[in-house]
Amino acid sequence: MSEKGILVVVSGFSGAGKGTLMKELLGRYPQTYALSVSATTRRPREGEEDGREYFFLSKDEFEKMIAKGELIEYAKYVENYYGTPRGYVQRKLDEGKDVILEIEIQGARNVKKMFPDSLLLFVTPPSASELKSRLVGRGTETMDVIESRMERACEEAEGMEEYDYLIVNDDLEACVEEMHSIIRGEHRRSSRNREFMKEIKEGLEEMKRR
Ligand code: ADP
Ligand code: 5GP
Repeated sequence: MSEKGILVVVSGFSGAGKGTLMKELLGRYPQTYALSVSATTRRPREGEEDGREYFFLSKDEFEKMIAKGELIEYAKYVENYYGTPRGYVQRKLDEGKDVILEIEIQGARNVKKMFPDSLLLFVTPPSASELKSRLVGRGTETMDVIESRMERACEEAEGMEEYDYLIVNDDLEACVEEMHSIIRGEHRRSSRNREFMKEIKEGLEEMKRR
């Protein structure tokens, strides 16, 4: 049974643990998943590498990619551009990998419009106070930036209902396995298996004639 890759969109409040979850998921199932590396105009954080966490571009370079249609989607988030390069995603889907886009909500909406078959997952911590603790604990942003991310989280919460599944990242271990199960289950959705159903039907008809 040949399986096409699923385009999986993962969104969630900044600090919810998306990056941590993705690292675990990809580490455990490297043959199953491919993580799209986005382009951004924000500055690299301590420890981030160009081409690994993001392709770090100037505003000019980013706008050229938009003009050439090289991005599946893009959005502005807290004063910076973020976008998904098209080539890698197409290639990995064709190889049968489930491709994960870790993107914010505007981007998720655009992907769903263009690829109605995509699976939308929303990651949240167990509570609002836990979100703030994680942002502070991560220690990568100033208090000002943390405040603007908490405000942005308020806006993003309004869009949670548009997602297919809610992933509560409380215990990391359990959460990774839950996400993997949801995606595996999605492969069994009948609408994704029309070709297989057709073959079984043909096989049954054939057996009847024998
Ligand atoms: P995001 O990518 O959603 O912005 P991160 O993956 O950077 O979030 O996680 C934010 C902080 O929360 C990090 O310091 C990370 O180590 C921590 N974290 C992630 N998942 C959990 C969890 N399940 N329990 C406790 N802390 C977590
Ligand atoms: P951060 O600066 O914390 O790495 O990311 C900020 C936000 O941008 C996160 O919500 C992240 O999911 C989102 N983001 C990252 N890459 C993309 C992308 O390619 N497109 C869109 N629309 N959002 C992205």
